[in-house]
Amino acid sequence: MDRTAIEARLRAAIRDVPDFPKQGILFKDVTTLLQDAEAFRLAVQALCEPFRDRPPDRVVAIESRGFPFGAAMSYALGCGVALARKPGKLPAATARATYLLEYGEDALELHRDAVEPGQRILVVDDLLATGGTAEATVRLVHELGGEVTGLAFLIELSFLRGRERLEGFDVHAVLRY
Ligand code: AMP
Repeated sequence: MDRTAIEARLRAAIRDVPDFPKQGILFKDVTTLLQDAEAFRLAVQALCEPFRDRPPDRVVAIESRGFPFGAAMSYALGCGVALARKPGKLPAATARATYLLEYGEDALELHRDAVEPGQRILVVDDLLATGGTAEATVRLVHELGGEVTGLAFLIELSFLRGRERLEGFDVHAVLRY
């Protein structure tokens, strides 16, 4: 399958849900893609492609839809995965960063030992919108002494200009809308 066919296959596997979680938001639902073995495999392969020749020391995956993609990528790239979670979910000592979402405000936490000083970190999420979530995750990684060597997203909503907030970083998205 060539790149164009793969992209078409992936786009067809993602479900658009209008007005979720509130009026005016077109929600890109990747659960349908995750349930589709071939689409999930193609998505993980495409996500890993830019990082195969320079694998990170660790993947940091963002709750919650970043988890399946980040876990599969860490397996494929031969590194571990750390979970950036919503407040109050992680049991040990954490660092926290707050951010504005396309629809509301939230915070993310990382275990203080999730990133070791000097580690090369790949941040993974399903979707890049305004970039607030990813930017907060970058702040967390930096606070813990890690270096963000890349960010990978399955979907980029280009019109929300999240990439501009991540200027200077190596940002990769498989699909752009
Ligand atoms: P942002 O911080 O604005 O870049 O938002 C990205 C985060 O919110 C990701 O974790 C996405 O899963 C989620 N998100 C934002 N907008 C959408 C959307 N239209 N469809 C699906 N998920 C979204």
